[in-house]
Amino acid sequence: MAGKDQSGTFGACSSSVETLEKENAYLQTIIDSVGSGIMVIQRNYEVTLMNATAESMMMNEQIADKFHPKCYEISHHLQAPCDGKEHPCPLSMVLESGERVKVMHRHKDAFGKERIIELTATPILDEEGNIDAIVEVAHDMTQLVTTQQELAHQSHHDALTDLPNRVLFMDRLEQGLKYAQRYNKRLAVLFLDIDRFKEVNDSLGHAVGDELLVSVATQLGVIVGVNDTVARMGGDEFAILVENLQETNALISIVTRITQALSEPILVGSHWLYVTFGVGIALYPNDAQDAISLLKNADAAMYNAKQKGRNRYEFYTQSMTQKAYERIVMETQLREAIATNALEVYFQRQVDAQSQTLIGMEALVRWNHPELGLLGAGRFVPMAEETGLIVALDEWVMRHAIMQWVAWHKKGQAVGILSLNLSTLRLADEYLIERITALLEELEAQPQWLMLEVTESQIMKNPQASIATLNALGAMGIKLAIDDFGTGYSSLAYLKALPINKIKIDQSFVRELPYNGNDAQIVKTIIAMAQALGLEVIAEGVETQAQCDFLLSLGCTQIQGFLFHRPSSGAAIEAQSMPF
Ligand code: C2E
Ligand code: MG
Ligand code: MG
Repeated sequence: MAGKDQSGTFGACSSSVETLEKENAYLQTIIDSVGSGIMVIQRNYEVTLMNATAESMMMNEQIADKFHPKCYEISHHLQAPCDGKEHPCPLSMVLESGERVKVMHRHKDAFGKERIIELTATPILDEEGNIDAIVEVAHDMTQLVTTQQELAHQSHHDALTDLPNRVLFMDRLEQGLKYAQRYNKRLAVLFLDIDRFKEVNDSLGHAVGDELLVSVATQLGVIVGVNDTVARMGGDEFAILVENLQETNALISIVTRITQALSEPILVGSHWLYVTFGVGIALYPNDAQDAISLLKNADAAMYNAKQKGRNRYEFYTQSMTQKAYERIVMETQLREAIATNALEVYFQRQVDAQSQTLIGMEALVRWNHPELGLLGAGRFVPMAEETGLIVALDEWVMRHAIMQWVAWHKKGQAVGILSLNLSTLRLADEYLIERITALLEELEAQPQWLMLEVTESQIMKNPQASIATLNALGAMGIKLAIDDFGTGYSSLAYLKALPINKIKIDQSFVRELPYNGNDAQIVKTIIAMAQALGLEVIAEGVETQAQCDFLLSLGCTQIQGFLFHRPSSGAAIEAQSMPF
């Protein structure tokens, strides 16, 4: 058993000086090999033992000698001011309390690197139970604390943009609400969603999408400043917490600053991109009292802003919750409608305006809603796409439209090509070819009767896979049209690689023809491009004779629009002298 002798060094029971020295050396080697720092300090501040680890932890120009006469100087070193706070002295604390104490010290080592040391000081009692000395054990926690800090940062920040994430945002919102409640303040939550970000991601790839998000995050950070919080909530969604809100106008000024900052195009990779947002705003205490409801209401307001177009902001109103609720009800009802055949296929005839002949028809879905009556596709197709119901819906439409086509063929009607809209989700279905083949066989229909309409962004979402699927469909004899042409980002290289038969000029370019010079130029270019690539071209949404004449003058003879036919049920078309 080792114990402290008169000389203050460790001694053993042997009286031999040689043995004593040997044992002391053993003991020193053992304690030197311990990874924690160990020090024994007497009541008079004399350090009577210090192992190598403690020495290296304490290494400083002031403390070269391990048997430094005064602990004070060591504690002076340890008590070096850090972050403006003095460190408590463990020895004094033990002497005062009579108990073991644990303290954390931060100090700079000889290389100027900050170290975090955990010190445990335990009293050593004499025979009478008085404190004779203390033993200090020091653990270097620097690495552990740094790792913990990094982990804490990671769990509260978005990995891509380094902005606070949803967890941290909600935390700050909760804190902000507590403060606002106590001091009668107002606060606001702004929910932002980048307009048409999905198209950027789908057509230019995720790497470009990510770069855009980082760039947007940086700009938002600058605009919002240090007093408010901007967070990435996921995907292309951001949220801003505005505390201490004085007047509502301040929010409009934030939105304006965001709009102005992003009014210049951003260079991402080799693409110049314009960024706009849909913004929803909810206020405390007006719109909600708790964090979750506040965020939900800001989200509902954002959704409403998006419905109204790009680059818009909306303040929350009560009716928005009602609308969000209706959306959920609609989803359940649509699921039922598909199962119970409450949907209906309408057909819109496409004509050759020059030869006055029928080319074919586009199948457009309608919903006989129990309370709302007959609903157009625009009322529920976007929701079906968001929820994935579109896959079942498209299958339903395909089956019923082909059934009608078979029936007309059996009656000897020359109805031409049946065009079917194909959603992205169905295009991505690996069993699409098998399903269509099986359906055609079951209904005894010909692949040559069909044309599938896909949009540019649907193809660009996964160009390689889409090309493979579309090539397989083409090999079966099914034709392909690019719908809403000109509205998405697309690559001519891919368009050339696709087995496309037809381009459909989007109705947004047709609407103001022939008077809108820009649109006229775009339409001219699309037609020339289609002709150069040897593709058919059809104009959608033709409502007036002037539009039709202009298109004819450019060589676009295929027309789909109210000027000739509105979408109608199969029965209604039959009732009007078929086929034209
Ligand atoms: P789309 O494929 O571009 O279809 C053309 C839309 O333009 C149809 O709207 C049609 O009714 C409308 N339209 C046709 N001529 C005119 C016109 O002269 N003036 C105006 N103002 N509009 C005209 P609808 O039926 O409401 O469909 C809207 C969109 O919903 C479609 O756009 C298509 O993207 C989608 N959709 C419709 N049915 C289906 C379907 O069965 N499956 C899928 N995946 N999408 C569908
Ligand atoms: Mg279409
Ligand atoms: Mg279209």
